[in-house]
Amino acid sequence: MTQSSGDFTAMFRDLSQRHGLACTHQRQVIYQALVTAKDHPTPEAIYESVRARIPSISLGTVYKNIKTFLEAGMLNEVSLHHGSLRLDARLEPHHHLVCRVCRNIVDLDEPDVAPASYTGRLPRGFRLERQNVEFIGICASCAKQQSSLTT
Ligand SMILES: [Zn+2]
Ligand SMILES: [Zn+2]
Repeated sequence: MTQSSGDFTAMFRDLSQRHGLACTHQRQVIYQALVTAKDHPTPEAIYESVRARIPSISLGTVYKNIKTFLEAGMLNEVSLHHGSLRLDARLEPHHHLVCRVCRNIVDLDEPDVAPASYTGRLPRGFRLERQNVEFIGICASCAKQQSSLTT
């Protein structure tokens, strides 16, 4: 999928508007880095790629904007309990394949997973916002490395 930067600007302006955020150049560059990174990046990785375009930006500013995107619902945290923050700008429902060794995260499309639905009763007052299934395992390159260590 190729997307010209003009398309991205229009898309970002529209998305920001729908989520009630002011659309600034800085935010646009940060969000573009998030959308372009397909590997569920850490905030630090986003900072590195944004710095190539805005050399004067600070890590604190990148963190602050990422938090703003998360709060506005324009960005999701992949997992809230793995210790390090991993970001996901793909907003349509999907699931994740997670390597427990290298922490690589790969998207699984929603239709490839039997619908995850909770049929029990949610604890009182809990408001469900999204659901996502994590498949934990070992990726091919880690498995290869492990078997070469043991043999
Ligand atoms: Zn791995
Ligand atoms: Zn994802």
